[in-house]
Amino acid sequence: MVWKYQAAAAMTLGMAALGVQGVTTNYSSTVDPTKLNIPNIPQTTSHDVAAQCQYYQPPFTLNPKEWPTSWEIATSNGMNTSAEFTALYNSIDWTKAPNIQPKTLSAEGGLNLQGYDVQGDKDCWWSASQCTKPKAADVNPDIVQCLEPNTWGLTYDDGPNCSHNAFYDFLEQNQQKASMFYIGSNVIGWPYGAMRGLKDGHHLAGHTWSHKLMTTLTNQEVLAELYFTSKAIKYVTGVTPLHWRPNYEDFIAMGSNGTFNTVGNIVLSHEINNMTMDFAVQNYPAIKKNYKHVVDVATCMNISNPYIEKSITYPTFDQLVSKNGSTVTGSGVSPAASGSSSSMGAQTTVNAALFIAALFGVGASLF
Ligand SMILES: [Zn+2]
Repeated sequence: MVWKYQAAAAMTLGMAALGVQGVTTNYSSTVDPTKLNIPNIPQTTSHDVAAQCQYYQPPFTLNPKEWPTSWEIATSNGMNTSAEFTALYNSIDWTKAPNIQPKTLSAEGGLNLQGYDVQGDKDCWWSASQCTKPKAADVNPDIVQCLEPNTWGLTYDDGPNCSHNAFYDFLEQNQQKASMFYIGSNVIGWPYGAMRGLKDGHHLAGHTWSHKLMTTLTNQEVLAELYFTSKAIKYVTGVTPLHWRPNYEDFIAMGSNGTFNTVGNIVLSHEINNMTMDFAVQNYPAIKKNYKHVVDVATCMNISNPYIEKSITYPTFDQLVSKNGSTVTGSGVSPAASGSSSSMGAQTTVNAALFIAALFGVGASLF
């Protein structure tokens, strides 16, 4: 979904023009990310959603006037005209954003690529061309591969959720860190899940507020989706992620792109329900076997500071490997984990693994 990236890129550019400080001062958080306090939730290892969520009460009192409606486009609930969002929107020099019209859906509900000049690909539209490097100046390219060879960047989308403690327990038992792409609506709905994600040492990133197709949205809607997701994560965990990933639908085209066959295991790793959680658990040994290193994206990209706040840091790849030699296992040559195509062997020599869209906020210097 390149145009998503392009929309994202517009956002990135806008945010850069705005300046990170301007974003962060639009809202605040009373949470110290280094001292997260999560009450003991008794059903922590249950796979029974009802049981796990039974006693789950959000620890925050949210002022409904400050938030979009859950699972609706983030301009909902009057956010598009709120003083907070209006100030943010107006602080951005939109003349510097790429001029890309929102894409449309086909009658079948998919992306409508009809009439788009794929060869020219002026929008760097991923869905049309798999473009990941925007043509506009000062727009950050997507992160699509780990820098380190034979490394799998472990990521999960769509959380958090009250029913995922068993899965987080599994990761904890395996001393495994992952990148968690959280949906803003879920962060507000299940804040303990987000808090646990950070407390457990996972790398948090955004995954939009309402899980819409970002390239079909206007600039205002895209900004709201990114902003309120960022605000939600900050409000609940105390950190503001600098990275985000567009939604699953954006990656469907990957299925026909052999290059990313092995990435499917990552892209399809969703925190939606216990079935997908179990799927992720079942596939984990195969990933571990076939890759020398399985790490979160911040680590595999050597991004020690993936948040605006600097109080939470992540090890560099070398630091992690030297600290935990036991993660260095496997041959690095391999057939696929779980039904992926035979291209996985080739992939392992190139790095495989993840697909994060353009940067939210910070300057291109990070990459
Ligand atoms: Zn998703």
